[in-house]
Amino acid sequence: MDIQKEVKEIVKKNLPPETQITNVEMEGPEVAIYTRNPKAFFENENFVAKIAFELKKRVNIRTDKSLLSDEHYAKNLIKELVPETAGIKEIYFNPSFSEVVIEAIKPGLVIGKGGETSKEIILKTGWTPNILRSPTSESEILKGIRHHLHKYSSERKKILQETSKKIYRELPKNNGWVRLTALGGFREVGKSCMLIDTPETKVLCDVGVDVANQDQPYPYLEALRLPLDRLDAVVVSHAHLDHAGLVPLLFKMGYRGPVYCTVPTRDLMALLQFDYIDVLVKEGKEPPYTERDVKEMLKYCITREYREVTDIAPDMRITLHNAAHILGSSSVHFHIGQGAHNLVYSADIKFAFTRLFNNVDINYPRLETLIIESTYGGKDAVQQDRNLAEEQLIRILKETMHKEGNTLIPVFSVGRAQEIMLVIEEYYRKGMLDGKVYIDGMTREASAIHTAYPEYLRKGVQRRVLQNDSPFTSDLFQIADYKNRDKILEEKDAIIIASSGMLTGGPSVQYFQKMAENPNNSLIFVGYQGEGSLGNRLQKGLRKTPITDNGKTRELPINMRVETVEGFSGHSDRNQLVNYLRSLNPKPKRIIVNHGEKNTAIEFARYVSNKFRINATALRDLDAVRLK
Ligand SMILES: [Zn+2]
Ligand SMILES: [Zn+2]
Repeated sequence: MDIQKEVKEIVKKNLPPETQITNVEMEGPEVAIYTRNPKAFFENENFVAKIAFELKKRVNIRTDKSLLSDEHYAKNLIKELVPETAGIKEIYFNPSFSEVVIEAIKPGLVIGKGGETSKEIILKTGWTPNILRSPTSESEILKGIRHHLHKYSSERKKILQETSKKIYRELPKNNGWVRLTALGGFREVGKSCMLIDTPETKVLCDVGVDVANQDQPYPYLEALRLPLDRLDAVVVSHAHLDHAGLVPLLFKMGYRGPVYCTVPTRDLMALLQFDYIDVLVKEGKEPPYTERDVKEMLKYCITREYREVTDIAPDMRITLHNAAHILGSSSVHFHIGQGAHNLVYSADIKFAFTRLFNNVDINYPRLETLIIESTYGGKDAVQQDRNLAEEQLIRILKETMHKEGNTLIPVFSVGRAQEIMLVIEEYYRKGMLDGKVYIDGMTREASAIHTAYPEYLRKGVQRRVLQNDSPFTSDLFQIADYKNRDKILEEKDAIIIASSGMLTGGPSVQYFQKMAENPNNSLIFVGYQGEGSLGNRLQKGLRKTPITDNGKTRELPINMRVETVEGFSGHSDRNQLVNYLRSLNPKPKRIIVNHGEKNTAIEFARYVSNKFRINATALRDLDAVRLK
């Protein structure tokens, strides 16, 4: 039966007449119920819980369109109802969702005690508030994304309706096989991508790019051998370019279907994709897609919270779990074919303490196959204790200042940058470090986005953001850009935090070229350096490199101090991966190893299979395995 009809019947059966339901609509995996009497739902809060339970879907209660008041009138009334201290930044209306978007510094005050204020808004204006938190410092990108989604809200509504038709289409009986095809990121780090398919459904998970790889930077999308409109969905584990860098390319190639991820992943991946285009253009290279494709992608993003079960195809359901790697990063649980198979893709995980995030999720309802990363899965890849790492970092910074040198810390603008900022900020606050700290590149924008989603941060940091004392917007951090780079380096005692993290492009490379010759300067690596990247070659002892200076190529001698501080990585080292496997509940029956250099991945798979007596293999790109 048609899903719309089926849902309507369930709604009719479970909600009493006083709720005055006028319409029921599907919006992607969610249900929107329109009522002429929203009050009935406030008086009996069980209604929503009950109907959501019956439908097994997220339910949105909306007021019937006839109750929506004039926008101008509603806007003024909202300003009256919400206390000034809420710090409302923007109010705008999305009629296709009967919603008013209210962006405020303190969303709690727009909601009110027990939801009183937002209920009043609904009763008096008809509009349902969708309350967003403003970042504690301006973020052009975030503002742009939110406006873009608003501008296209009626198109989004149509997209969601089309999506739900596909999710809930009728399936012929099938023989229930499940297959995984490795398209990128196997026996390597970079361009993560895989296809999960059944006789009826095809889902891509991650579509990354390998920025350190000149020969084969893209996943093997051509091996899909199917028109992109046959894809049911794309799922994105997290925003890093090696997982999400090429999602807009799919849209350039004609894909027009849903992209499932968390809200922070949506915003951060757009930020990194815009930056990726920018870096390539500045280097005179042709980007694989344009800003228009990123914006098209944004319209198709369906955001989910951690642990929210979501139907994405007639025979597939996903749940995103906290992966503790970067803001909004997730491990993806695929529930395939009415319980026929349960696959968990851990993606990039941190199984250890971090200042930024809550502990990684280890509990799953069911689990047969686990795909696990092995970035630091090698037997020697042991990360030092976090406290020792912090001490080592601070010691190098002080020694460099003592020599009147400057320090460059290349970072991924999302993840390591914020972790390092937290460490430095704390040492400053305690008076244990001085000097000037400059943030360059996308890091400032990325940090601002962190402050818009404090619920994804560990309690301590969350509290500071909520009290408007965000460590990321501390006065300590000064903004650097192409205009003041030379001046900063003349000043001495500067600590520069800049992307890219592996010196593959962007401001960190420019600082490096200006700083390398001076032996008093330091370069500190705090994150993973991919095979072939400049960062990796420097770690291996590179002492000179050709650079282009005013159109001429010359040899740049590298005299600066080059250090690596292990312990800040957002990835788990071998011991942490093993502890993760030990803690997983339930235990998988089969393990597939990916996201590690060739020898590391192979060796880690062998180690795990001996240790846990579980079938473990390091697939290669283009391998396909039958999971069921
Ligand atoms: Zn990552
Ligand atoms: Zn990764």
